[in-house]
Amino acid sequence: MTAARFTLLSIVGAACLGLASPALAKRTKAKSSGAKPTPAPTAAAKPTPASPSVDWQVVKVGPRDYLSVDNIAKFYELLGNVDSTGKTVVLNNGRNQLQLTLDSREAIVNGVRNWLCFPVIAQDKKFLVSRVDLAKTIEPQLRPQMIEHKGKIQTVVLDAGHGGFDKGVQSSFGSEKDYALDVVRQLRPLLQAKGLKVVLTRENDVFLPLQLRAHIANQTRDSIFVSIHFNGASNRDASGFEIFSLTPRGAPSTGDNALALSFVNMQAGSPVDAQSFELSACVFHSMLGHIPEPDRGIKRARFAVLRHTKIPAILVEGGFLSEKNDSKSVANPAWRAGLAEAISVGIENYRNVTEKKQRPMLVADYRAQDSGGITVVNLAEPPARLDGSAATPGIVPVSNPEPDPNKEP
Ligand SMILES: [Zn+2]
Repeated sequence: MTAARFTLLSIVGAACLGLASPALAKRTKAKSSGAKPTPAPTAAAKPTPASPSVDWQVVKVGPRDYLSVDNIAKFYELLGNVDSTGKTVVLNNGRNQLQLTLDSREAIVNGVRNWLCFPVIAQDKKFLVSRVDLAKTIEPQLRPQMIEHKGKIQTVVLDAGHGGFDKGVQSSFGSEKDYALDVVRQLRPLLQAKGLKVVLTRENDVFLPLQLRAHIANQTRDSIFVSIHFNGASNRDASGFEIFSLTPRGAPSTGDNALALSFVNMQAGSPVDAQSFELSACVFHSMLGHIPEPDRGIKRARFAVLRHTKIPAILVEGGFLSEKNDSKSVANPAWRAGLAEAISVGIENYRNVTEKKQRPMLVADYRAQDSGGITVVNLAEPPARLDGSAATPGIVPVSNPEPDPNKEP
């Protein structure tokens, strides 16, 4: 693919693109799960025009469907700038920011790193984003208020990774299984104080098969599932937070080679893809917004607990026990209390998105709040800081992935 210089069409603010336009909601109802519309085009369904003035123009490249960045910009009313290399485009409308790079799976969405399923490509001087990435990764974050959660979220199923003989990753200070259990124990009262019920898959240091963890989640009505882990890597310098939800159907996981075709026939995605992804985003923004850890990104994997759960499900990796500074932080009970607090706030934000249609707090909002700068009172309003300068603090290059992506975490 030639790195053709990208030209973004001038975008005229289209007032007709109301975010919750009833016409749009009506026209996009045809999703398989019966859950409410994922309005951007899905991998399975024909794309639905957002309004009479903005049609989705699908571009077929090889076996895959793509949408042009121009098209995406128009739909979401974003204005674009291409950087001096001609390879990175930043789209912004003051409310949402999206940074895409040619030939890369790495994207920055509203200030945090995302890993797309497929690289951004160029054709006829236009940047193209795969349809699955638009529908499953970009759309839930740019229009979280469109996500419907079936019923109210009553219960959070908290899953402390590992246990018993399965110690997980070990640092010189302790074991993943113990840290994970401590975090869920600290999370429980925080969530209860927010009016949520809490179920722990394990309360003690016992071994629990992965399937059983998912079974407990699936037996719990009106719930979401949050699995807590800590990372390890042979690269002792790898550090920071990452978070996972299930890989969409027919797409590679973050750790897979996007050009390999072996993933195509892999297991189906989840009917609650968008919910799981947005839960990931809400929790990740809160973690990074409260704790100064490197942002390794929102990722995809087919881990067993994500594969077998039928409710919105995420897996949090709360730092690397194989890295000097992370392992010291994680060994500190007060630091783990901070992590539990950050996760609880992210979960509350997700509930507010799905039930009250409140815009979730973003990493820049949390940082502004913590620094005594801006206090975001009305979450339904656009975040106060989303200009280019403030939206990407702490984004430093990371190699991806460090841990073995196809191993259970
Ligand atoms: Zn683990």
